[in-house]
Amino acid sequence: MHSVINTQVVIVGGGPGGAASAVFLAEKGIQSVIIEKESFPRFHIGESMTGECGNMVRRLGLEEAIQQVPRTIKHGVNVYGQGGINAFWIPVMRRAENGELVKGDTWQVRRGEFDKMLLNKAKESGANVILGKAVKVITNDENVPCGVTVRQEDGEMVDIMAEIVLDASGAATFLSTAGIAGEKGRGNYDRQIAIYAHVKGAKRDEQDNTLIFYQKKNHWAWFIPIDEETVSIGVVTPSSYYRSSNEDMRDFYLREMHKINPQLSQRVPDVNLVEEVRATSNYSYHIRDFAGKGFICVGDAHRFIDPIFSFGLHFALTEAKFAADVIADYLLEGVGRELDNPFAEYERHCELGMDTIQDVLDCFWEHPFSFAFFVHSRYVDDFIDIFAGRVYQENPSKGLQAVRKIIAKTATPVEASAEMAVAA
Ligand SMILES: Cc1cc2nc3c(=O)[nH]c(=O)nc-3n(C[C@H](O)[C@H](O)[C@H](O)COP(=O)(O)OP(=O)(O)OC[C@H]3O[C@@H](n4cnc5c(N)ncnc54)[C@H](O)[C@@H]3O)c2cc1C
Repeated sequence: MHSVINTQVVIVGGGPGGAASAVFLAEKGIQSVIIEKESFPRFHIGESMTGECGNMVRRLGLEEAIQQVPRTIKHGVNVYGQGGINAFWIPVMRRAENGELVKGDTWQVRRGEFDKMLLNKAKESGANVILGKAVKVITNDENVPCGVTVRQEDGEMVDIMAEIVLDASGAATFLSTAGIAGEKGRGNYDRQIAIYAHVKGAKRDEQDNTLIFYQKKNHWAWFIPIDEETVSIGVVTPSSYYRSSNEDMRDFYLREMHKINPQLSQRVPDVNLVEEVRATSNYSYHIRDFAGKGFICVGDAHRFIDPIFSFGLHFALTEAKFAADVIADYLLEGVGRELDNPFAEYERHCELGMDTIQDVLDCFWEHPFSFAFFVHSRYVDDFIDIFAGRVYQENPSKGLQAVRKIIAKTATPVEASAEMAVAA
């Protein structure tokens, strides 16, 4: 016999999406239980935030708490073109109340401590956090999710019964794997590998900004200062290119770091690895039907596009807020109870933002020169907004329209890559 806990919302995953959901639900007076399989702090990649992500951290009441965790202040992103030339700069700016763009800043963080801080905030807000792995979805007679079975750290099983199952399990995509949400489809950047570590001794710019180094299509590197001494460096290439090198991960990583772009190699003359070298591959995916009666997915649990330009944390925290709002309307006001999918509008709204970023990234990879011209000269303010994460507008800006026009003229990225491979 499993023991049973009853709550209003059971949240699978205590990362940023899950923890922020619990905080926003608590603000509405809604009880939640978070299931997290790992003890925090645990390593997680994804350290650079957009401007609006920083505002969401402030909105969560964490502006003071973040001063206690390893972090740096980010003023913008510098993108170095092939061979280290044609750099473009995107400052972090916010919209003032009168609509004007004004100077802003955000953070770059070590995720272990940052995620722990967020999970602590969820606990302080009243969420019950259970250390264990969600292993099964419990459904009612109509196949609507109404809880999850959890294997706790000590091996004991417990059923958490709830009106809503909120999936914030990240790339584990718990509800898709269980056949409740749609199937996991490949994203446009699915055949890539990111290899990364934390290093000391790298030369950062005076402002500690996030740096991106472009080599050629789908070959690039990131450089994210995360505290006074440590920088997260990742190299990203097609998986086939990595395999054909026949090198082990560490050798490949250290060699590519010096090969991708001269602007990067001059920053890492002599680096000292302070974390093991890790990798993530096939990280690009898309799940449709990610909300419905009894369930809702947040953040990476339904889609991840590409790590360049740092939108993952932004989507996780922003969607946590959207999800808490629609769950509150549903539980407290009965909104959408009669509908097959009470959260259809949530799905549409999340996709609006993610589709914007998908199109922007497709344009960056397929048309890097036009993209640089748009960002640098033609639609500067529109791109400052997009890179800050203001991506949920119903009417696309002129900059976004230009992106869509240019990508519509070409084949889809997957087709285009295949054409290029055949041509080669
Ligand atoms: C190479 C790479 C670089 C990236 N760089 C950036 C960046 O610079 N900036 C940025 O904003 N984003 C970046 N991202 C994306 C970012 O890391 C994610 O988008 C973000 O962590 C998503 O948060 P989440 O809460 O949805 O998922 P996660 O942070 O992955 O949290 C999910 C949690 O669920 C738990 N879990 C999973 N399954 C279960 C289960 N069955 N039971 C219980 N617990 C479970 C996991 O242990 C985990 O703690 C990067 C991603 C990649 C792949």
